[in-house]
Amino acid sequence: MSAPPRFPQPTTQVASIPAMTPFVAPEELARRVGRSELLRLGANESAFGPSPRAIAAMREAVALTSWYGDPESLQLRAALAARHGCAVEEVVVASGIDELMGLIVRGFCAPGAACVATRGTYPTLFYHLNGFGGRAEFAEPNENGGLVPENIADAVRRSGAKLVYIANPDNPSGSFADRATLAALREVLPDDVLLFLDEAYADFVSPGELPPDAIDPRTIRTRTFSKAYGMAGARIGYALASAEVIATFQKLRLHFGVNRTAQIGALAALDDGAFMRGVIAEVERGRDEYHALAAAHALPSLPSRTNFVCIGIGSKADAEAMVAALLELGVFVRKPWAPPIDGFVRVTVGTVAERAAFAERFAEALDRVREKAVR
Ligand SMILES: *Cc1c(COP(=O)(O)O)cnc(C)c1O
Repeated sequence: MSAPPRFPQPTTQVASIPAMTPFVAPEELARRVGRSELLRLGANESAFGPSPRAIAAMREAVALTSWYGDPESLQLRAALAARHGCAVEEVVVASGIDELMGLIVRGFCAPGAACVATRGTYPTLFYHLNGFGGRAEFAEPNENGGLVPENIADAVRRSGAKLVYIANPDNPSGSFADRATLAALREVLPDDVLLFLDEAYADFVSPGELPPDAIDPRTIRTRTFSKAYGMAGARIGYALASAEVIATFQKLRLHFGVNRTAQIGALAALDDGAFMRGVIAEVERGRDEYHALAAAHALPSLPSRTNFVCIGIGSKADAEAMVAALLELGVFVRKPWAPPIDGFVRVTVGTVAERAAFAERFAEALDRVREKAVR
């Protein structure tokens, strides 16, 4: 018999999790290059801030930080239910979609079971799958990194997965599957498979193009205040699903995990439609500029329905060199992790001034990358 370990050990399951840092934060990247700040275009945060109404409401709310928030988030859930034409029991609020992902995996993907997703999509789900003992089963994407319904259905058949993850619009590709495509996919999936539709970027798409709001008991949809609403730092998002699915989260979720100030800010943000329309219009202009920038350098760019654009640099190594060259110039961007779009870099739409600064440094970084390739 071996001697007992000399120090406390994590559980066998946790010890077997591969070490994985899903995201190196811009703060850490800035420290690595010895800068106090970066041009922050890598995390799809909003360059346009929260609505002034949300800021005012949160400023006032801060004084009562000594109180816990309402663990039921009832006022906010009532407002969200009214907006989506569903019942309060069909809405759960959490500290962002990233938290909901963990809850969905814990609730609906047994240890050892598979969860199907398109290769290359938003990776945080895989982090939770690793942590809770599930596994990812990948469906191959199309040439733009977008989903292929037949490949997803095949992967479900092959793996017996009971959970399917689709980010729509997708991150990092920016691609979008319309409501007919999603409805057709839902119909070919077995009824006991939960379709997890991550709609982090839904605000950038007109509601008529999204699946209708009616609750489908086989589908869960997640939304966030982090992107178009400009409240990523407040950590607040929500899910829409049947009352039965939502009830599952009541057993698992951290009841005071959503901070009070965020609840109040989100409620105020929902009311400011004019601000939101302004953000969406500016994001459209920014996307057009990025497509034009790519074209000016004879580079391809991917169609996007989000607040970012992927610009093709060349090979995977070229794109990695470009991310590094941009970082040296003080610019934070990220890049897709899987083929066929791993030769692209992904750039978030910034303000007019940030876009101008980016265009300049992009040209400079591209020169450096091309010089190195020639040498
Ligand atoms: C940004 C993003 C999230 C994270 O949302 P939070 O509400 O901030 O946790 C989830 N999914 C996708 C596809 C995203 O791009």
